[in-house]
Amino acid sequence: MKLLFEDIDEPGLNTLPIYERRGGYQALREALALAPDEVLGQISESSIRGRGGAGFRMGQKAGFLPHGDMDKYLVCNADESEPGTFKDRELMQKSPHMLIEGIVIAAYATEIRRAFIYIRGEYEHQADILEAAIAEARDAGYLGEDILGSGHSLTLVLHRGAGAYICGEETGLLDSLEGKRGNPRLKPPFPAIEGLYHGPTLINNVETLATVPHIIRMGGEAYAKLGTETSTGTKLVSVSGDVQRPGNYEIELGVSSRELIYGLAGGPPSGRSVKFWFPGGSSAPVLTADDLDLPYDFDSMAKAGSMLGSGAIIVVDDSHTVLEVALKVAKFYAHESCGKCVPCREGTNWTLKMLERIQSGEATPMDLDIMASVCEQIIGNCLCVLGDAMAMPIGSMIEKFREELEAEIEAARERADAAALEDVVPLGVADERAGPMPVH
Ligand code: SF4
Repeated sequence: MKLLFEDIDEPGLNTLPIYERRGGYQALREALALAPDEVLGQISESSIRGRGGAGFRMGQKAGFLPHGDMDKYLVCNADESEPGTFKDRELMQKSPHMLIEGIVIAAYATEIRRAFIYIRGEYEHQADILEAAIAEARDAGYLGEDILGSGHSLTLVLHRGAGAYICGEETGLLDSLEGKRGNPRLKPPFPAIEGLYHGPTLINNVETLATVPHIIRMGGEAYAKLGTETSTGTKLVSVSGDVQRPGNYEIELGVSSRELIYGLAGGPPSGRSVKFWFPGGSSAPVLTADDLDLPYDFDSMAKAGSMLGSGAIIVVDDSHTVLEVALKVAKFYAHESCGKCVPCREGTNWTLKMLERIQSGEATPMDLDIMASVCEQIIGNCLCVLGDAMAMPIGSMIEKFREELEAEIEAARERADAAALEDVVPLGVADERAGPMPVH
C-alpha cells in the first residue's frame, strides 16, 4: 500500500494545480471543519511514530504542547543529514505541497500560527521548489491569514541551513534557526515546553508531517491498521550501498527486511552476498545476513539490538572489509562532532585514531578491547546522540566481526614489518646502489 509515493512520479506534482487535481488540500478542508482537538485526536489515534529517527509518537509529542493563545512554533526538520537517508529529499522535490498541507494541518491541531521548514544547505534545488510551492499555497489561501475562511492563520518560513550534521539534532537545529552556532542544548527543558525563542515548539520530520494529510483523509483508526500494532502505517525507506536497485521505497512497516533488500532493491551484485547492513542509517548498530528475515519495524529492529532510525538501509557486501566501513563511519562522526562535550569530542577522535593504527599495522588485538571500552563509555554519556551515533555501529562491528578485525590487525602488522625490512638496505647492496665513486 502506498500513500506518500502513490503519485510521486506524476509529472508536475510539485505544482499546485496538479497536486489539487490529485486530491491535494482536501484533507486540509476536512481538518478545518473539525475542532483542533479532534484533528489532534485523529493523529494520536493513528499512533504514527516520528519518521526522523527517534520514533516518538507524534500525537503524544504534540499533546505535550500547552494549550491556549501564546507564541508557539512548529518546526519541520528537513535537515536529513544522516548518511544513507535521502527520502525527504525526493518527497520535497516531487511533492512539496504534501508537506505544506501536513504542516498547516498539524499547526491547526496544535493552535500554532508560526511555522518554519529548516532545510539543509546542500538541498538548494529542493529549497527553491519549496519556496515556489509556499508562494503558490499562500496565493491560493492555504497559508497566511484566515486560511480558507476558518479563522486560523499560519505564517510559513523556509530557512536554509549551512550543512552541518548536528543541525539535524532538534535543539542544535533550534539554535541554528535562532541565528546561533548549531550546538545541542541540555534537555530538559524539552522543546515542547521551551524551544524556539523560548516558546513551546513542535518539531517533526518531513515524512512525519507529509503523512498527516493521509491520516486525516483515511482516519486515524484506519491508518493504525496499516503496518504492525506498534509500528503503524507505511514508511519511506532509502536503500543504498551494495544493491542493484538503490532508491527510496514505500513499504508497510513489518515487511521482511529480505523482501526490502533483495525483493525491492535487487540485493547485492551478482556473485556477492550481504555481509552486514545498517538498518537505520550509519548510526545504527549493524545487523548481519542472519537478521535478513526480521520484520522491518521499530520494535523488531530494537529487539535485534539495532534501530530503525530514519529508515535508511545501507547494505555492505562481502567485497568490503569491516575496517574500511568502520573507518568511514568514525571519520564522518569525528568530523561532525560539535566538540561541546568530552566523551563525544575525544571519544570519536580516539576511535578514529585507533582504527587508523589498525590500518597502518601499529595496533594489537588489545586495541580492540580499548576501542570497545571507549565506545561503551561514550554511549549514554553525551549531550546529544552524535557520540552514540558513532559508538553504536563501531561497537557492534567489534562485537560481531572481532575475528576479522584481529586477522586484519595481524595482516597489517605483517605488511608493515615487510615494508620496514625492505627499507633496511644491506651494506653491500648499499654500495652497489650508490654506484661507482665519482672521480673529480
Ligand atoms: Fe556536540 Fe558530540 Fe556533545 Fe552532541 S554529543 S553535543 S555533537 S560534542
